[in-house]
Amino acid sequence: MSTTQSISKSRGRYESKAYAAAGPESLLAPAKIYRREPGKNDIQIEILFCGICHSDLHQVRNEWSAMPTVYPCVPGHEIVGRVTRVGSAVTKFKPGDLAAVGCLVDSDGSCPSCQSGLEQFCPNMTLTYNSPDPHFGGVTFGGYSDNIVVKEHFVLSVPKILDLAGVAPLLCAGITTYSPIRHWGVTKGKKVGVVGLGGLGHMAVKFAHAFGAHVVVFTTSSSKKEDALNLGADEVIVSRNSDEMNKHMASFDFIIDTVSAEHDINAYLQLLRPDGNMTLVGAPDKPHAVSALSLLFNRRSLSGSLIGGIAETQEMLDFCGKHNITADVEIIPIQKVNEAFDRMMTGDVKYRFSIDMASLK
Ligand code: NAP
Ligand code: ZN
Repeated sequence: MSTTQSISKSRGRYESKAYAAAGPESLLAPAKIYRREPGKNDIQIEILFCGICHSDLHQVRNEWSAMPTVYPCVPGHEIVGRVTRVGSAVTKFKPGDLAAVGCLVDSDGSCPSCQSGLEQFCPNMTLTYNSPDPHFGGVTFGGYSDNIVVKEHFVLSVPKILDLAGVAPLLCAGITTYSPIRHWGVTKGKKVGVVGLGGLGHMAVKFAHAFGAHVVVFTTSSSKKEDALNLGADEVIVSRNSDEMNKHMASFDFIIDTVSAEHDINAYLQLLRPDGNMTLVGAPDKPHAVSALSLLFNRRSLSGSLIGGIAETQEMLDFCGKHNITADVEIIPIQKVNEAFDRMMTGDVKYRFSIDMASLK
């Protein structure tokens, strides 16, 4: 069978297989890591698929000055798999169940954010990788691995009808777009812009469309026009064309910006109507320049959003189950992960890589 039987126990931990980067310029390569033996509230999951998020690339290459990378780094926070063992106090899962894990694996449970279901804002949260590990010291290791052990509260249930390779990206790209779309009240009759058609962007299109909005995609890639329409967009604008942009001046209720690199956000702020909001979810390291005037006119607002809380992540997965929504994925073996990183940098992915973790065995 799986991981659980091949592990060598030593002091409450066991050896597992992973792919890790040894430094910012290193390729990801096979590595041995340790996972903790499941405690009474823990769930051990055999990982079946893990999505490749652009954040994995930012982190592996140490591109975020505010979140320096500790090496070796095992990325991966779009995890879906099967439960192999559960601790004695676990009530919601049993061996054999499908289970998923996103960007969070722990939080203090007692701060105002945790109390209101916003664990992603807990000052003591533990991210799935590159976060101080409260069990072993060092940092946490993510889902480019054959298994993971996670506290029950942070494990999500997966609707049985969905394709698992396409479910994995919902755990980050899905919730990161679903959450602000819900928060800013996207409904039928609203005009919504999605900037950047990558992993996050294509999920934003699917969700905004499912909520009944009029969806306009802004892309730098004219080759993605047809896909955008097939994904649920009503209009597609190649953002380098200023005439096309000008036609939409002061007309959007909400814009979600998913771009991973430096770009001019004022070009989009001007497209918001009175009281319109633009939310940044893309995370380039370099600060954006914001023109005060583009915010003053029409009382526009600019905000950000970080993944989503656990309850909302479950709500999103249940919504996907009901509406048969998954990410469009290209499935790859883990041995192609470095190539996939390079292809993501050039926008050559439709629209998320999902690693088939059977390739790690
Ligand atoms: P991705 O698949 O690489 O998509 C990014 C898209 O941005 C590209 O497909 C491209 O779309 C556009 N883009 C790239 N470079 C550009 C440039 N120089 N100028 C204009 N547009 C450009 O990445 P992703 O996985 O969706 O992640 C996007 C960003 O969100 C990353 O920075 C990631 O770290 C961040 N993120 C944030 C959160 C959060 O909680 N806030 C969660 C996950 C990820 P077009 O070809 O259509 O132009
Ligand atoms: Zn992510």
